[in-house]
Amino acid sequence: MPLRVLALDLERTLISDANSVAPRPGLVKFLAFCHDRFERVVLFTTVEEADAQSALDQLVDRGQVPAELLAPLKCVTWTGEYKDLGFIADAVPEDVLLVDDDGGWVRPGQRDQWVAIAPWDGGPDRELLRVQQVLLERLGVSPI
Ligand SMILES: [Mg+2]
Repeated sequence: MPLRVLALDLERTLISDANSVAPRPGLVKFLAFCHDRFERVVLFTTVEEADAQSALDQLVDRGQVPAELLAPLKCVTWTGEYKDLGFIADAVPEDVLLVDDDGGWVRPGQRDQWVAIAPWDGGPDRELLRVQQVLLERLGVSPI
């Protein structure tokens, strides 16, 4: 089954947190890469949808991320103790990769779909660049 959908965690993965909304180093290039390589990119976060949307709006308003990279990121509606990839509409879990700093949210049985990223809370960081390489490998593209 081809990997078509990329699910991204928000806090500590793309930004610091939904209050301070600091963009992780490399965020713009990372999002552009994700949209290039996957048919669909979604946001899979524990943050309430309105607060998540407000965080994305702040990134745009501050000129930190172009709107066209964030507008397509729809929040996955979900409940329960795991970020079950089955909540993603029009996809089966095998189609999806989840980038998340917290493996505790990964549903047992879906750990093969998880791409771990170190949690970020400010400061220099190259994790988004590293994860791009991991995603390329998962997609079967050799590193350049
Ligand atoms: Mg997180």
